Amino acid sequence: MTSKYTNRYIGRFAPSPTGPLHFGSLVCALGSYLDAVSHGGHWLVRMEDLDPPREEPGAAGRILQSLEAHGLHWHGPLEWQSRRHGLYDRILDELAERGLLYPCQCSRAQIRKQGGHANDSCRHTPREELQADLPSALRLHCAGGEETFDDIWQGHQQQQVLEDTILKRRDGLFAYQLAVVVDDIDQGVTHVVRGADLLETTGAQQRLFRLLGAEPPMFGHLPLVMGPAGQKLSKQNHAAAIDDQCPAENLCAALGFLGFHVPPELGGESPAAILHWAASRWQRRQVDRRNRQLQ
Ligand code: GLU
Repeated sequence: MTSKYTNRYIGRFAPSPTGPLHFGSLVCALGSYLDAVSHGGHWLVRMEDLDPPREEPGAAGRILQSLEAHGLHWHGPLEWQSRRHGLYDRILDELAERGLLYPCQCSRAQIRKQGGHANDSCRHTPREELQADLPSALRLHCAGGEETFDDIWQGHQQQQVLEDTILKRRDGLFAYQLAVVVDDIDQGVTHVVRGADLLETTGAQQRLFRLLGAEPPMFGHLPLVMGPAGQKLSKQNHAAAIDDQCPAENLCAALGFLGFHVPPELGGESPAAILHWAASRWQRRQVDRRNRQLQ
C-alpha cells in the first residue's frame, strides 16, 4: 500500500466523535499541531467515526467547532472514516488473498479464560467447523515476537505482539487498528503525536504498517491529563467539554501543561497569536512525559 501524498512532515489529530473536545484532547490536538507546524509540516484532522454505537450525536460537529474556535485550523481536506469503508474492504481483501486473515468466533469471556489473549485454537480451526449461526471477527496472523520503536516522549519501547489483531469486529464494524493504520499510510502521515493511552496499541500497529509494505511513522505519546480522582480525562468518564467562549485561557492552560512558561499577557491575545507564539518556541524536550493533573 502506498501513500497518495509526499511531504517531509505530515501530522494528524484523529478524534473519535464519542463526546465533545475536553481539556485532555485539547492538549493532544495542540501538541500534535505545534510539533507539525514547528517542523514546517502539515497538520491533518481525521474524524474517526467508525463505531456508530459509541458515538454521540452532534459530537463530530462540536469537536470541529472547538478546534476552529481555538485557531487549530487543519491543512487539506478533512477526512471521515465513515466515508472510507471501500478502502478498508480493499485492504482486507488483499490481506485475505495473502492468507493473512482468519475468522475467529471466540467471545470475550472465552478469551479471558484463555488468559486474556486469543490463542491458537481458532487460528487453526477449519472453516467448516465454524458455527454457521455465530458471527466471526477477522484476525490478522501477526502474533509473536516483539516490536521496538523510539517514542519521542516515552523513549525506547519494546512491545510483545501477544495476540492476532482483530481487523474486523464480530459486529461487522471495521476495527480501529485497521482503519488507523490504513489511513495513516494513505494520508502519508509521517508523525503520529497522540495521548499516552494509545502507547500500548502501537507495537501491533507498527507490525500492520510493515505487513502492508509501509514504513511506520515516528510515534510520540504525550502525557495524559488526569482528573482530580487520578483518572484520565476522557469522553468515557464524561470529562467536561472545553468552553469555546474562552479559547485564549484554554490554550494558555494547555501550553502550561506542555511545559511552556506562559507570560500572563499572552492570555489577552487571539488564538492565532498564541499559536504563533508557541509554534516558534516549541521544543520537544520541554514536555514532562509524566501523566499528571493540571496544576
Ligand atoms: N481516535 C482515537 C481516539 O480518539 C485516536 C486515534 C489515534 O490518534 O491513533 O482516541
